[in-house]
Amino acid sequence: MTTLTRCFIILFTLSGLVACEPEQAAPGASEQAVPRADATDDGRIDLIVLGDYIVTMDAAATVIENGAIAIDDGVILAIGRADQITASMQAEQTLNGDNRIVMPGLVNGHSHAAMTLLRGVADDLALMDWLNNYIFPAEVEFVDAEFVRIGTELACWEMIRGGTTTFVDMYYFPDVIAEVVDSCGMRALISATVIDQRSPDAESAVDSIQKGTEFIRRWQGKNSRVSPIFGPHANYTLNAEQLQATRAAAMEFGVPISIHMSESPFEVQYSKDTFGMTSIEFFESIGFFEGPTIAAHVVWPTEAEIPILVERKVGVIHNPTSNMKIASGISPVTDMLKAGVRVGLGTDGAASNNDLDMWEEMRLASLLQKVEQMNPEVLPAETVLRMATSGGATAIGLGDKIGSLEVGKHADLIQVAFEDVHHIPTYDVVSHLVYVNDEQDVASVVVDGQVLMREREMLTIDTERVAAEATKFAARIQSALQERNQ
Ligand SMILES: [Zn+2]
Repeated sequence: MTTLTRCFIILFTLSGLVACEPEQAAPGASEQAVPRADATDDGRIDLIVLGDYIVTMDAAATVIENGAIAIDDGVILAIGRADQITASMQAEQTLNGDNRIVMPGLVNGHSHAAMTLLRGVADDLALMDWLNNYIFPAEVEFVDAEFVRIGTELACWEMIRGGTTTFVDMYYFPDVIAEVVDSCGMRALISATVIDQRSPDAESAVDSIQKGTEFIRRWQGKNSRVSPIFGPHANYTLNAEQLQATRAAAMEFGVPISIHMSESPFEVQYSKDTFGMTSIEFFESIGFFEGPTIAAHVVWPTEAEIPILVERKVGVIHNPTSNMKIASGISPVTDMLKAGVRVGLGTDGAASNNDLDMWEEMRLASLLQKVEQMNPEVLPAETVLRMATSGGATAIGLGDKIGSLEVGKHADLIQVAFEDVHHIPTYDVVSHLVYVNDEQDVASVVVDGQVLMREREMLTIDTERVAAEATKFAARIQSALQERNQ
């Protein structure tokens, strides 16, 4: 479409919002000094998504009834009442909105996607026992590029099906992860894992930083949906110099870092014994927060450490299922939010969850805080929905691009069906999204304006092929484990 038509649509959007909210002036509307074009000039836009409700997650938490979103070139052009938008523009494709809630796609701020292939391989164990005696040895034995390709595809299938549109991943063979994300249409920050031990794709910390650097060089600027970043594992698998070297490499490319931080009592004790400080104080002391940081877990911050997270704009990713399953503890999410920390939500890997269901993370995050504080008012539905959308986007550094449905943002959104018996009756859509919804309720998924799932039909991943490949690979793992145990 022409620039002229686009200018018209932006004007239309602003006037449409004014019509919905007569009390509010549309910001910037009077500043638009562009000529109005004929609405039918220059044909059709790419996509219109309709919904009985549009939960925008904008700053005012606007919910539009009988709404529509107009999308072209991957960007939201207009959002407003369905009758106004459909009367003024035509689209190549329209997603029907009957019994559908439209909302931003979910942001999974911490995952190890390929670990779907280790789903259920070792349960009911403490973190260090689980890592050292099961996960790390299994990874050395089984994880190769093929494992990562199949496991990541399986994860992307599950995440798209459940309405996740963006994820932050940390695993081995990051090029393979990037290729899968590229082809399935999701958005991701993909961390090259840095760890000071023999891993499936590197021999040491130095080697993994070198390989991560090459990965970032290959992928930076290649695909706007794929952001290559560094993922130093933790402060108990890397020393201060190695962590600083990783940060220096990240700064060279201007990319953020994702890392596990203050996850368990073991880590905090290790940090005190080794560095003479608790974890977050240690990271602050070595200048680690000089660049953007996405910190997974943060279960055990001290009172003195929370202001550091605020000042350094650290994005904290809360993973309630993983924290509960490994008994890492209960993160003081309410205190961190009150202090101004940017907090998002994540699933962690499927080996410690054991699924990638962000609806479950929302529900558990809310319920866990309520029972921990013996206060049902903490972490209400809207707050936790924000952590999974706009708050999560801000925590991972994409708050200006995704996370809410607003004109100019990328069209990363989902349609949730609310006709199932467990949604009836519907008094409050936000309440239902958090306290009722399951991943199976997601009907359609759009990322960057591309429809990845339409009325539960996967369009970018061959479900049967992925399921068959995953089952076959898992059979290999199972027979090797049985042999070892005999
Ligand atoms: Zn993790």
